[in-house]
Amino acid sequence: MNWTVDLTNDSANDSANDSAIDSIREKVIMSAYNHVIVAVDLSAEAKQVTDRAAKLVAPDGRFCMVHVLQPLDSIYLGESYGATAAQFQKIQDDMMVQAKQTLKELAAEYGCTEENQYLLVGNPAKEIHKLADDQSADVVVIGSHGRHGLSLLLGSTANSVLHGAGCDVLAVRIKE
Ligand code: AMP
Repeated sequence: MNWTVDLTNDSANDSANDSAIDSIREKVIMSAYNHVIVAVDLSAEAKQVTDRAAKLVAPDGRFCMVHVLQPLDSIYLGESYGATAAQFQKIQDDMMVQAKQTLKELAAEYGCTEENQYLLVGNPAKEIHKLADDQSADVVVIGSHGRHGLSLLLGSTANSVLHGAGCDVLAVRIKE
């Protein structure tokens, strides 16, 4: 494959250069993904991941963002804390409202429309896999780690998303 462009100031080379540039552009476009889903934990690092993901989308491609809220009863908050079911529900509802707003603000920075913003509840890796399958995503983009494990090589969510995904998965190296 020859991707050389002649930069000498010779008009005879102009059309050859134009076609070389067109060919490079076509190859770059063809290597982009038509449907990219970025999984965001809404932490300060989420922008690093989203920046990278946005660059992978083909010109007429679809760009989706997903955040998965874990149900409170799955994050250990037992009755020993004295919370009633109604109080749990209220906390969960407040978290949902807050996450929806944060996701909306982040999505707006990348032109990700409301119908392409997904706020789901459950186990993050399972929900991300299901969404990617249901929406026929070409690639899921995640951070190499998020809020939970700065010292880990690959975070636990990242690891779980990587294993069992039905499409490509890109783990973006988070800079500390
Ligand atoms: P972790 O493995 O938890 O350190 O997180 C690694 C990456 O997984 C994050 O940078 C996000 O891309 C993604 N991720 C983690 N938790 C969630 C979540 N609750 N919802 C969506 N994506 C998440």
